[in-house]
Amino acid sequence: MSQERNPKIVILGAGIAGISAAYHLKKAGIDSTIFEANSQKGGLLDNFLIDGFRFDNAIHLSFATEPEVRKVFDPTPHTAHPAVSWCWDNEQWLKHPVQNNMFPLEASQRVDLISGLVERPNIEINNYQDWLIYQYGEPIATRWQLPYTEKYWTLPASELGIGWIGNRVRRADIKEVLHGAFTTETPSYYYATEMRYPKQGGYKAFIEPMISEVDIHCEYKATKIFIDNKEVQFENGESSSYDQLINTMPLPELIKIIDNVPDNVCEAAATLFATSVDLISVAFNKADVQPHLWFYIYDKEILAARAYSPSIKSADNVPNGHSSLQFEIYSSPKNPQTHSPEEMKANTMMALKKMGLIENDNEILFMHHKQLPWGNVVFDLGMEERRDLVLDWLKQVGIQTAGRFGEWAYLWSNQAFMSGMRASQKILNN
Ligand SMILES: Cc1cc2nc3c(=O)[nH]c(=O)nc-3n(C[C@H](O)[C@H](O)[C@H](O)COP(=O)(O)OP(=O)(O)OC[C@H]3O[C@@H](n4cnc5c(N)ncnc54)[C@H](O)[C@@H]3O)c2cc1C
Repeated sequence: MSQERNPKIVILGAGIAGISAAYHLKKAGIDSTIFEANSQKGGLLDNFLIDGFRFDNAIHLSFATEPEVRKVFDPTPHTAHPAVSWCWDNEQWLKHPVQNNMFPLEASQRVDLISGLVERPNIEINNYQDWLIYQYGEPIATRWQLPYTEKYWTLPASELGIGWIGNRVRRADIKEVLHGAFTTETPSYYYATEMRYPKQGGYKAFIEPMISEVDIHCEYKATKIFIDNKEVQFENGESSSYDQLINTMPLPELIKIIDNVPDNVCEAAATLFATSVDLISVAFNKADVQPHLWFYIYDKEILAARAYSPSIKSADNVPNGHSSLQFEIYSSPKNPQTHSPEEMKANTMMALKKMGLIENDNEILFMHHKQLPWGNVVFDLGMEERRDLVLDWLKQVGIQTAGRFGEWAYLWSNQAFMSGMRASQKILNN
């Protein structure tokens, strides 16, 4: 039998955005209740533990600059790693970003790639492919960024917009490129100087201080929302009325469960899609299996686009004398995953040997597969317009929406925190 709960403010989703919304309401003296579909709190920032090895849900390092976020994150004891990453390309390691670190390449290759940059065409930019060719010239873009886009975004760059780029992709600068073509002594060009990670407890430890202050009900998956009656129904048979609703669940899923949504909004929401991430987590029976905190993989034979080392993030993530890696393999409704978990593991084993990280299978204690259904929001051409139509309608019907999948934007955890905080402020202002 359905049981009625009566919180005034209901928040859907206990990721950092929903938790931040509840936390900031609480700071202002207002109670709220979070309903979370999963059995655990934290959303993408949660982690899992297998035989003493802790793995986050994908890379997760903090480069937050916002004082509001730092105030919550910084008291947790953490390590600040230098923001240096690497790339596996064509049987060799190059420092990231590749175009600024070409010294290890043969001289003739460097000449071709740099000539392409000098002669880059001054083209009109209609999509990400145009942007890449305009930035780097055709030879550099064709060798690295264009194929990598298909691995990471699961679409050809010609089908992606450019609204998401911001400072995420390093612009080409001829002086930087020339410098890196003459020496390996290059500075880090990453958009952050340090990458922070808790000493213990995985990335989620950064948000534990907020979790402990808010009211979260797990295993409450919202399955129906009646906007006229202001009521949410859950898969477990319970329901909740609300005065104010903050959503952080993915927009396309949200629209599916609201009653009486206009057709044009349903149609727009149905076109929104995100990547899914298959994680292959690897436990090694030896320490220091590889020296890089994280690295990008350009090699087309290797399914993973990126990998990182949980054991470098924190020694607390592995038992003494051991190490670990986690590989990220991307797919989407536009380019669905065709490999089974066993095939992905076999491909990762091949990758580890090809990259010279292991010699024998018996250096591995276990490989584990898990899929994150919602990874990165895909900015296919025209997406922002369709998304804004959905967001405008939600605003009209009084639903606040926040977070990476609620705003439907490329938000890092600090930005999702700020998004949840803004949603709470809107309610407080009302
Ligand atoms: C591969 C990858 C790497 C990343 N690396 C970094 C990084 O290094 N640094 C960084 O700062 N950020 C990183 N991020 C981004 C970061 O994970 C997100 O910005 C942040 O976790 C988003 O939080 P959120 O609360 O908006 O969404 P989520 O964490 O997804 O939370 C939404 C919650 O809603 C719940 N939910 C869904 N449907 C329902 C329903 N019907 N009813 C109730 N609850 C529901 C979900 O279970 C989930 O818990 C990365 C993300 C990915 C995918």
